[in-house]
Amino acid sequence: MSVQNVLNTIKENNIQFVDFRFVDLAGRAHHITLPSTEVEAETFVNGVAFDGSSITGFRGIESSDMVMIPDTETAYIDPFTAHPTLIIMSNIHTPEGERYDRDPRSIAQKAEEYLQTTGIGTTAFFAPESEFFIFDDVRYESGMNKSYFEVDSEEAAWNTGRKEEGGNLGFKVPVKGGYVPVQPVDSQQDIRSEMVKVMQESGLRVERHHHEVSTAGAGEINFRFDTLTKTADNLLKYKYIVHNVANQYGKVATFMPKPLFGDNGSGMHVHMSIFNGDSPLFYEKGAYANLSPLAMHYMGGILHHAPALIALTNPSTNSFKRLVPGYEAPVNLVFSKGNRSAAVRIPIAAVTPKGCRIEFRTPDSTANPYLCFAAMLLAGLDGIKRKIDPVALGYGPFDTNIYHLSDEEKREIRSVPGTLDEALNALEADYEFLTEGDVFTKDFIDNYVAVKRKEAQAVAVRIHPHEYELYFGC
Ligand code: GLN
Ligand code: MG
Ligand code: MG
Ligand code: MG
Repeated sequence: MSVQNVLNTIKENNIQFVDFRFVDLAGRAHHITLPSTEVEAETFVNGVAFDGSSITGFRGIESSDMVMIPDTETAYIDPFTAHPTLIIMSNIHTPEGERYDRDPRSIAQKAEEYLQTTGIGTTAFFAPESEFFIFDDVRYESGMNKSYFEVDSEEAAWNTGRKEEGGNLGFKVPVKGGYVPVQPVDSQQDIRSEMVKVMQESGLRVERHHHEVSTAGAGEINFRFDTLTKTADNLLKYKYIVHNVANQYGKVATFMPKPLFGDNGSGMHVHMSIFNGDSPLFYEKGAYANLSPLAMHYMGGILHHAPALIALTNPSTNSFKRLVPGYEAPVNLVFSKGNRSAAVRIPIAAVTPKGCRIEFRTPDSTANPYLCFAAMLLAGLDGIKRKIDPVALGYGPFDTNIYHLSDEEKREIRSVPGTLDEALNALEADYEFLTEGDVFTKDFIDNYVAVKRKEAQAVAVRIHPHEYELYFGC
C-alpha cells in the first residue's frame, strides 16, 4: 500500500486512530497511537518518536530518542479495538535518520538484501508452524504453586479447563493424546476457528488448524509461506490474534515452549527454501529427498552453525526444557526425510518442485522471528558459499527413529546445546557468519548475549519448586 493508499483507507473506512508498531529485541510488539487527524503524508517520512531507553536492549538513557518509520505495506485494520484503528509496522531509525542497527526488522530486511548480493538466488521463503497452548485465564502468582504445571497432577486438570465441577464427562485428552481428535475431546475447535476467521479478515492466508499432540489446550494454525520480513510481520500478526481471541474467550494463550512438564511442548518449526526468480533452487528429482546440492549445502550450514543459531532460534531458558528426548522436539543435530526426531526434516509427502523445502524443527516461538529467520538464512547461505556437506560431516541422513539407536550409534551424533548459557557460549564462539553483509553487527551480538545472560542468571538464582522435593527434607 502506498502512502496515498493508506491515507485513502483512513478516509474510506472512517479510521479514527493509527497504531504505529515496532518490535523489540525479544520479538514483542510495542505501539504508539495517533488520532488519524494527526496523520498526514509527512508522518510517513518523518516518523513517530519514542523513548528507546525504556525498551530492554535498546538505547541508554543518555541517547534515548528513536524514531519509528512506518512501512505502509504492512497496514491492516485492528480487529480488536472499539474504535476503528489502522495498525502499521515500523522500522526503527536513529534521530539522524539511519536504520538502527539493533532494530530486528531492519536486520531482517538487511538479510534479504544480502541474499540478493550473493548471486545465489533472489528470494528466500519461510513458513513457521507456531504452536501454542490455550489455558483458562487464571492469573497465577509466581512461586511454587500454580506456575509449576505438571501433567498427571491435579493442577493439570485445573490448567486444561476441565475441572470436575458438574461431573466428569470423560472427554479428556490423555498426556500426548491430543493429536487431532474430534470434538468433544477437542474442546477448542470453535476458538481456533474464530482465530482463523480473524486472521483471514486481517489479511493472513490460513491453510489449516488443528489440535496438537499435548493434552487439552495445545493448538496450531498454519498460514502460508512468504518472504522473510513479510513472514516475520505475519507471525507478529498471528500471535496478536491468537492472544486477543483467547482473551475474548476468557482464556489465555501462551507460546512458551514448555508450559507443562511431562508432555509435548510448543515448537515453531520453520520451513525454508530459496528461489531464483520463479525457479526453485532446492529441488532435484531423484536425489536424496529430491534435494539439490545447493539445498544440501544450505542444510549443512544450518546444522554446522546450529549450536550458535539456537541462541537466536531458542532464546529462552524455557526453550531448553522443550529440547529433551521423547516429545517430538529435536535433540539431535541430524537431518532426515520424514523423521521427526531430527533437527532438520525434509518433508516428502505431497511435495512439488516449488514446494521442495527443508524444515528446521528446533526453533520455538520465544524467538524473535525477524532475528530467527535472518540468522537461519545467513547460516544456510554460509553453507552454500562454503559448500558445507552435511553427509561428509556425519549429520545424516538418519531415517530411523534416533531415540531408539544404541548408545554406540548415538555417540557419533551431535546434540543441541543443553541450556541457554551453552547456546550463548556457542554464539560467542561462532558469530561471524551472522555479520556477513553487516546484517548483524558485532555490537548487536554482544548486546544480545549480555541481555540473554542476564535472563539466564535471573532464572538460575531462583529456587526451583522441584528443589523442595529433592532437598527440603535433608
Ligand atoms: N510439539 C512438537 C514440538 O515441540 C511438535 C509436534 C508436531 O508438530 N508434530 O516441536
Ligand atoms: Mg504442523
Ligand atoms: Mg505441530
Ligand atoms: Mg512441522
